[in-house]
Amino acid sequence: MALARIIDGRAFAAGILAEVTAETAELAAAGVVPGLAVVLVGEDPASQIYVRNKARTTKEAGMASFEYRLDAETSERDLLALVAELNDDPAVHGILVQLPLPRHIDSARVLDAISPDKDVDGFHVINAGRLAAGLPGLVPCTPLGCLLMLKAELGDLSGARAVVLGRSNIVGKPMAALLLRESCTVTIAHSRTRDLAEECRRADILVAAVGQPELVRGSWIKPGATVMDVGINRVAGEGGKTRLVGDVAFAEALEVAGRITPVPGGVGPMTIACLLRNTLTAAKRIA
Ligand code: NDP
Repeated sequence: MALARIIDGRAFAAGILAEVTAETAELAAAGVVPGLAVVLVGEDPASQIYVRNKARTTKEAGMASFEYRLDAETSERDLLALVAELNDDPAVHGILVQLPLPRHIDSARVLDAISPDKDVDGFHVINAGRLAAGLPGLVPCTPLGCLLMLKAELGDLSGARAVVLGRSNIVGKPMAALLLRESCTVTIAHSRTRDLAEECRRADILVAAVGQPELVRGSWIKPGATVMDVGINRVAGEGGKTRLVGDVAFAEALEVAGRITPVPGGVGPMTIACLLRNTLTAAKRIA
C-alpha cells in the first residue's frame, strides 16, 4: 500500500495568515486595527517562546500586539484588574492569558473574567456553551485548526466515524463538538476507555490529543484513515538532545493511514494562525 499523504500544516497556516493579513488591511483602512493582548505571568521558558511567536505573527499580520509580562509573584487580584482593564480597552479586540498560570492563581476564574467577545482562545464557559449548543462564538484555536485542515483535505465530513483521543476543555471536548457539528459520528476516548486500540480502529478520522509520546501505534489505525496528531511531546533524542514527537507513532502510521499530520509542522502552526483568525473575527464583531 502507498504511504499516507502528509498534511502540510505550515502551508495551510500560511494560507490562513495570508487571508487574515488581507482582511486586516481592509479593516485597518476602514479605521479599525485589530489588537491582540497577550498576558504572560512568570518565566516559564516554553510560554515565553509561545508569547514571543504570537506577538511576532500578530505584527506580521498587520495587527496591533500588546504584551504584558508580569512577575511570577503577581496576585490573582492584580491579574484580574489587568483583564478588566483590557476588557474595557477599545484598542484590544482579543485577550489571551498564557497558560499555565502560577499555582496561586485560579486559572478558571481568570479565563472567565475575560469578556466572551474578546476571548480569542475560546476557553470562556460562554463560548464553550455556545459551541456545545451549536451557536456562533469564538472556538478554541487548536481544534479549529484541525477542523479547517480536515475539511480542506476531505471535503464533506458528514457520516464519517470520528474518534477523539483526549477530553480536555482545550482540545478534546471542543474537537468532538466541532466534528459533531459537521455530522460525524463521534466517540471521545480517554484514560479510562477500556480498549483504546479497538476504539481507534473504527475511526475514519482519528484525532490524538493525549500528551503521551507515540501512544497510538500503526496497528491501531484503520487503513486509509485520516490522522490528526495534536500531541507535542519532548523526548530524549540522539547525542543527549531532545526531539519532538506526537501522540502517534508516525513511521508506523505512515504505512497504514490515508493522510496524517506530522509533528512538528502539522497541527501546531495552525493553532497560531487560528488565534489571529479569531482576533480578526472578534475585531469585526466588535467594530
Ligand atoms: P490534557 O493533559 O489536558 O488532556 C489529556 C487527555 O488525554 C485527557 O483527557 C486524558 O484522559 C487523556 N489521556 C492521557 N493519557 C492517556 C492514555 N494513556 N490513554 C488514553 N487517554 C489518555 O492535554 P491537552 O488536551 O491540553 O493536550 C494534549 C496534547 O496536545 C499535549 O501533548 C499538548 O502538548 C498538545 N497540544 C498541542 C497544541 C498544538 O498547538 N499543537 C495545543 C494544545 C495542546 P483523562 O481525562 O481520563 O485524564
